[in-house]
Amino acid sequence: MKLDVDALRYLSKDDFRVLTAVEMGMRNHEIVPSELIDRIAGLKHGGTYKVLKNLLKHKLVHHDSSKYDGFRLTYLGYDFLAIKALVNRGVFAAVGRQIGVGKESDIFEVAMEDGTVLAMKLHRLGRTSFRAVKSKRDYLLHRKSFNWLYLSRLAALKEFAFMKALGEHGFPVPNAVDCNRHCIVMSLVLGYPLVQVRELRNPDVVFETIVGLVVRLAEHGLIHCDFNEFNIMIDDDENITMIDFPQMVSVAHRNGQMYFDRDVDGIYKFFRKRFNHSVVEDSHSSHETESDIEEEERPSFSSLAKATGFLDKELAASGFTRREQEQIESFIEGSEAENSSGSDEDDVDDSEFMPEKVDEDLSSLNSLRLADQDGDDDDDDDDAHSPDNGDAV
Ligand code: ADP
Ligand code: MG
Repeated sequence: MKLDVDALRYLSKDDFRVLTAVEMGMRNHEIVPSELIDRIAGLKHGGTYKVLKNLLKHKLVHHDSSKYDGFRLTYLGYDFLAIKALVNRGVFAAVGRQIGVGKESDIFEVAMEDGTVLAMKLHRLGRTSFRAVKSKRDYLLHRKSFNWLYLSRLAALKEFAFMKALGEHGFPVPNAVDCNRHCIVMSLVLGYPLVQVRELRNPDVVFETIVGLVVRLAEHGLIHCDFNEFNIMIDDDENITMIDFPQMVSVAHRNGQMYFDRDVDGIYKFFRKRFNHSVVEDSHSSHETESDIEEEERPSFSSLAKATGFLDKELAASGFTRREQEQIESFIEGSEAENSSGSDEDDVDDSEFMPEKVDEDLSSLNSLRLADQDGDDDDDDDDAHSPDNGDAV
């Protein structure tokens, strides 16, 4: 998705005021009635309507008049609110080039006032599952409301909390700098995803390091759940950094064993295929030829996963609650199920990716009950966990 930050410069105070009003209205409305936006923004003499037109022109909001006249934020609008908040806070001063398109995120370089370059990750929950669900309209029959802003913010909050906690425990992760809405800012990793590397000087050492990380995570009560060559960064000195944590779970998770094995299997397979790492045996094909010693070398989930509590303690301290953890897990599991049930991913043009399409996508996730949509009194809760979820109006 394009992020034309130039527009940021041309937006006035009133523009941001109205944009923030739309965001606030979305706590209780999928489409925020124009009148409500006007009331929240409190601009003089119909000023809100003029501003909304401008926001629409810049694709920061989406207009919907199917039921009543109203608007909602687009991802771009949400991006701008997060970026503005972080810039105001002095976290960075400029947004640079896009350095990554993840499964459910866009990554940009950002520069601080003093020229230091950091990485900014904008979460876009629902992108992949949207692809999967696109052709299965039946799901839409069971439509339930949801809130993509809430989910993306939850993903960012979780990732930020994990990155911080893991860093404090000495894991090689980017330094977690700050977080706002669906956006996290972290140190830039000077390296490449392992998937881009054709040759290693010390494949054995790198392999041991990587497997060692999975083991150490489990000893801390955690499973990465997406620990593969796309989420392992390696630099010229073959130092490893692991990234991408929104899907991490506790070893106590009911599918813990499966997730752990999947992470380990993936690494074994990748190293054998890419680097012809011959001492490595694929677990599934190794039963008869394998000696006991080699069998023992493979990390075993049951002997590792004794430590629990890390997750609860660390995350509670960071303001990430058990309930939020469960919500995001149920979302991720839901979209995994969608993805594995077969889809034609190629026919979706990413540039067309807009929140109104995400709506349809996420609506299939019936298991997810969102406080924001239910009109629960959870707003205070959300604020407490978000470093700042709207510093205007
Ligand atoms: P997703 O959850 O969408 O897979 P990732 O966190 O894995 O997103 O990031 C996607 C890509 O962006 C990575 O494969 C990597 O190339 C790049 N990237 C992510 N974080 C950083 C970082 N801190 N420094 C440099 N590149 C990064
Ligand atoms: Mg990734």
